[in-house]
Amino acid sequence: MDFDLTEAQTAMRDGLRAFLRRECPIDYVRDCDETERFPTELYAKLAAQGWLGLPIAEEYGGSGGSCADLAVFLEEFAGHFEAAANIYYTTVVIAADAISHFGTEAQKRDLLPRLARGEIRFAFSLSEPNSGSDAASLRTRAVLDGDHWVVNGQKMFCSCAQGADYILLMVRTDTAVPKHDGITMLLLDPKTPGVEIRKLKKLGLKPMDLNEIFLTDVRVPAGDVIGAVHGGWHNVLKTLDYERCCLSAVNVGAAQSCLDKALAYTKEREQFGQKISQFQLTRAKLADMEMEIDASRLLLYRSATLVDRGIPNNKQSAIANLASSETYMRAAVNGMRLMGGWGYLMEFDMQRHYRDAKLAEIGGGTSEILRIVISREMLR
Ligand SMILES: Cc1cc2nc3c(=O)[nH]c(=O)nc-3n(C[C@H](O)[C@H](O)[C@H](O)COP(=O)(O)OP(=O)(O)OC[C@H]3O[C@@H](n4cnc5c(N)ncnc54)[C@H](O)[C@@H]3O)c2cc1C
Repeated sequence: MDFDLTEAQTAMRDGLRAFLRRECPIDYVRDCDETERFPTELYAKLAAQGWLGLPIAEEYGGSGGSCADLAVFLEEFAGHFEAAANIYYTTVVIAADAISHFGTEAQKRDLLPRLARGEIRFAFSLSEPNSGSDAASLRTRAVLDGDHWVVNGQKMFCSCAQGADYILLMVRTDTAVPKHDGITMLLLDPKTPGVEIRKLKKLGLKPMDLNEIFLTDVRVPAGDVIGAVHGGWHNVLKTLDYERCCLSAVNVGAAQSCLDKALAYTKEREQFGQKISQFQLTRAKLADMEMEIDASRLLLYRSATLVDRGIPNNKQSAIANLASSETYMRAAVNGMRLMGGWGYLMEFDMQRHYRDAKLAEIGGGTSEILRIVISREMLR
């Protein structure tokens, strides 16, 4: 397995790094966090650079990048502005992937080029108040009435629903079959009468809205289904490994950012007449962070390589996701420790990582669920 980046990947990473330094200065990141606002300007600039089309096939207006290309991009992006990388992930990873794999030719021609140009954004709504880890027990019901689905129910924890042009809505369309076999993905226009979206207040990732969605007699055209009717759950499973791999890239990039900041701080801060980087206990923390991030990065690129080669990687992508998410959380905690009281101040960036990191251990499967996935594969 070759772990070197290709020339094209190195050029993309360096180009993105220069772009972010120029177009997304740290004051912009802080402002979006403090004011909880969507990075509209940055999103438009990413579109202008063609980066929203990175994983989309060329015939649909993208550049046909591999999973490894996307991992390189997300790692760099998240190191600079993690919330924006998560926003990107919702539309460019989850939605683009679902449409590319399961959409009809007409849906691909209609949606993917507009997505790549930044004209439309998406949200993905699976979770409900009573179904999180056990997502397949969702209850939101869609019943066919003539040439429309009529949807009733409530969705919880939907990232980016406010401001989305479409929501990929997972609904129950058959109650007479086992729970995994009666779920369908609808393409919902959130402006449809009967859709009410409310904002949820949360700990971190402030620029990315988190919403609950109330659906009352919402009429969705019968053709606005992504993939087979009743086949929604099985389709979600098919793309889950790729999505976990991409989440791992976000985690690795953000964890590296914690380490870079902590390292710089310990080389500046003096106590007891010397730089705190001279203390062995400080060095042990830095070494642990370096080791864990390095290991997570290797797991990430192993997972991306397997995805790109079409080799089953359910266990490997879950391992990458679990290792990188817990590594990120520990890097943020250690970063806070190394900065003492200064890390606790809002004017330093470590507190943002500390708040943002927690989602890494929840989204894409909680740490417990990822351990279940890994051990299930081990015990097969
Ligand atoms: C900021 C944020 C953004 C999100 N964005 C989205 C989104 O865009 N779309 C979407 O659909 N969802 C989204 N989610 C929801 C997320 O996927 C769920 O929160 C997650 O799947 C966990 O579900 P839950 O919160 O209901 O916890 P629960 O499933 O109720 O879990 C509670 C605890 O029980 C544990 N647990 C559950 N089952 C088991 C088991 N079998 N064995 C051992 N322990 C178990 C869990 O690990 C956890 O510790 C988001 C959540 C957050 C916080």
